[in-house]
Amino acid sequence: MHSYVGVMSDHPEEYEVTVVGGGPAGLTAALYTTRLGHDTAVINRGGGRAAMMLDTHNVIGVTEETSGNEFLATGVEQVQSYGADYHQDFVTDIERLEDGRFHLTAGNVEVVSEFVVFATGFSDARPDPPLPRTGKGLHYCLHCDAYMFVDEPVYVMGHGEAAAHVAMIMLNFTPEVDLLLRGDEPTWSEETDTQLRAHPIDVVDDDIESMEKDDDGWLEAFVFEDGTRREYKGGFPMYGSEYNTDLAESIGVELNEDGTIAVDDHGRTNVEKVYAVGDVVPGHNQIPVALGMGAKAGIGIHYDARTFPMSLEDIEARGGLSKEDVPAVSSRLEDIAVHHEGHAGGPRADSDGDGEEEPASADD
Ligand SMILES: Cc1cc2nc3c(=O)[nH]c(=O)nc-3n(C[C@H](O)[C@H](O)[C@H](O)COP(=O)(O)OP(=O)(O)OC[C@H]3O[C@@H](n4cnc5c(N)ncnc54)[C@H](O)[C@@H]3O)c2cc1C
Repeated sequence: MHSYVGVMSDHPEEYEVTVVGGGPAGLTAALYTTRLGHDTAVINRGGGRAAMMLDTHNVIGVTEETSGNEFLATGVEQVQSYGADYHQDFVTDIERLEDGRFHLTAGNVEVVSEFVVFATGFSDARPDPPLPRTGKGLHYCLHCDAYMFVDEPVYVMGHGEAAAHVAMIMLNFTPEVDLLLRGDEPTWSEETDTQLRAHPIDVVDDDIESMEKDDDGWLEAFVFEDGTRREYKGGFPMYGSEYNTDLAESIGVELNEDGTIAVDDHGRTNVEKVYAVGDVVPGHNQIPVALGMGAKAGIGIHYDARTFPMSLEDIEARGGLSKEDVPAVSSRLEDIAVHHEGHAGGPRADSDGDGEEEPASADD
C-alpha cells in the first residue's frame, strides 16, 4: 500500500485524479479511477450525509444493520487496497495552474491533479429545537425512511413548497399526516395551497413547546404552544439544502438554479477535467444513485484520460510504440495490481519477479 503522504507544501503530491469528498459518490469514483489505472487521491473531511445513517436502506447487498460509518469505513479500505491515497482533511482552496492542472490545498495536504471530482454533497438545513435524534423520529431521507412510517402518524415540518409536497407524498404511506408550520407563514403558492387543502392533512400553526420520547429515545409526541399534544412515530423537516459548491464555483463551475452543480450524463461540468457526482448534482439523493454516478464519472475520466488506442499521429510523433511502452497504468498501481493478494485475481505467478512461480496460497 502507498505510504501516507503527509505535509508537502514544497513538493505537492501529484495525482491524475483527486476526489474532494469521500462519501459513497466520491469513494466510488475513486474506486473506479484507481482500478482503471489512474493515480487517485481522496480528500475527505468526513461527517457527510452517509455518515449520519444509523442504518442503511435501499442498498442491495448491504444489510440494514450496517451503519453509515461502517459502510464508509469499508469503502475507504477498498479504495486504499487498490492504491488510492485517502486523506482525512478539508479542502479549502483550489486553483488552476498554467499547465492546466489543479492545485488543491487542505489542512495537512497539498496536491496537484489533472482531474478533479467534486463529491462534496450538501447539508440539510436543521430546524430549531426541540427535536428528536436523527434516525429516531427526525428523518432526512424520504425514500429511505417512509417505509417505516406505513400506517403510522407522521409530521412534515416546514412552510415552503417542498414541505407541502412531501406532506402530500406521505399520504402514499399513511393516512395520518400533519404539516407543522411552527409559527411560520406558509410561502407555498396559492395553487399548492388549494391542492394541499384538498388532501386530508392537518396543518398545525403553533410552534412546538416540548417533546416526549420513549425509553429507546424514539419520539412519541410533540406538545404545542397552545397546549395540544400530538403523537408521531417520526417525520421529515423540509427547510432546504445547503450545497457544498464554494470550491467548484471558485474555478468557474456552473450551477443550476436550485444550487446543484450542472453536469452531463457522466458527471462532467462545464470546466474541462472537472467532474461532480452524488448529492451535489441533480438527482435522487440516494446511495445507489450516488454509487452509480461515481461509477459513471470514474469511467468517464478513464475515457477522457486513457492512452490506448493511440492515434497514428501520436505513435509516429513518438517514433513508434513497443511492448515496453505499455501498459498505461502508473508503475505504483501496476505493482499493487500484480501483488494484489486477497482479491479475486490474487497475486500473479512470479509477482516478486524472481523468475519462479509463486507457491499457491491457502485461498487458491
Ligand atoms: C440521516 C440520513 C439517512 C439516510 N439514509 C439513507 C439510506 O438508508 N439509504 C440511502 O440510499 N440513502 C440514505 N441517505 C441519503 C444518502 O446518505 C446520500 O444520498 C449519500 O450519502 C450521498 O452521497 P455523497 O457522497 O454525494 O455525499 P455525502 O455522503 O454527504 O458525502 C460528502 C462528503 O464530502 C465531504 N466534503 C464536503 N466538502 C469538502 C471539502 N471541501 N473538503 C473535503 N471534504 C469535503 C463531506 O465531509 C462528506 O464526507 C440518508 C441521508 C441522511 C441525511
